[in-house]
Amino acid sequence: MKEQKKEKYIGIDIGGTTAKIGLVDAEGTILRSEEYAVDFDGYETPILTTVLERLKKFLADCGVCRLQLVGIGVSATGGINTQTGRVDGSAGHIKNWQGSRIKEKMEEVLQIPAYVLNDANAVALGEVWLGAARGRRNVVVVTIGTGIGGGIIVDGNPLLGKSGFAGEVGHMIVSHAGESCTCGNFGCLERYGSTKALIKRIEQGIRAGEIEGFEDGAVNGRRIFEEVERGNLAVERTVNLWIDYIADGLISLIHIFNPEIVIIGGGVSVQRRLFVDKVRSKVLSRARVEFTEGLEIEPAELGNQAGMIGAVHFCRMSMLSERR
Ligand SMILES: [Zn+2]
Repeated sequence: MKEQKKEKYIGIDIGGTTAKIGLVDAEGTILRSEEYAVDFDGYETPILTTVLERLKKFLADCGVCRLQLVGIGVSATGGINTQTGRVDGSAGHIKNWQGSRIKEKMEEVLQIPAYVLNDANAVALGEVWLGAARGRRNVVVVTIGTGIGGGIIVDGNPLLGKSGFAGEVGHMIVSHAGESCTCGNFGCLERYGSTKALIKRIEQGIRAGEIEGFEDGAVNGRRIFEEVERGNLAVERTVNLWIDYIADGLISLIHIFNPEIVIIGGGVSVQRRLFVDKVRSKVLSRARVEFTEGLEIEPAELGNQAGMIGAVHFCRMSMLSERR
């Protein structure tokens, strides 16, 4: 038991603009962490090269006894193949990312096992281990931001699919021949339910002269909710339509996965009364009643640490199941 307590993990969270590297213990406490830019030269230096350089420095600086390190968990953006630990699909705009052999390179540097998964799945696992879905076994996590990310937990395990790509809830098609999406398809949920989509609708409303109240500044999530708070009805109507899309997406997911709890993440989830509560009441009033009994819909708790924490949890779970 004493030995187990000393076990430490490296948790890495690689996003499109920054990467975080942390030293995490077996209880999920982040003992030390650092964050670095990865887009400083437009990705001419491949993200993985930047992260590996920083990782070597991080290890040297924190002077951890290498013997205490048992594994590396990596949360990474894009289509991550969990079997090979490689980036098989890129978010498109990130140069030199697709094909990155994350697992292989990390294991080369540290000589301990590395496990890699998609960032949205890592966030879901983080919330299950130490966040808003602690102790739950069937969980849907949806992160609303520039896009819409998702992670599904079934019977305590992340739903990865054949290669690790499962959970791309933002690319559920909700409108036949709808708006074009970054994924190459049309009518994906994130074209309608992401924060970016809300901002776009508000900006369209402003240009059409239907929305007022943004004369003095930029349109962003916080400002939009301030306008709703102030009683700006045109903005509230647009926000309500946007919430309808999110609620519809969640209802579909609830009917497919029958979760105990739905977690809503992303910056906008700090808006409890004007956003999370509204989503909850729409979902609970429209989903089939046998699915909603005891169903909770709550904001995420771990914020931007969720990916790193979830990656470490994935590493622990994978090592445990391999030991069996
Ligand atoms: Zn799409």
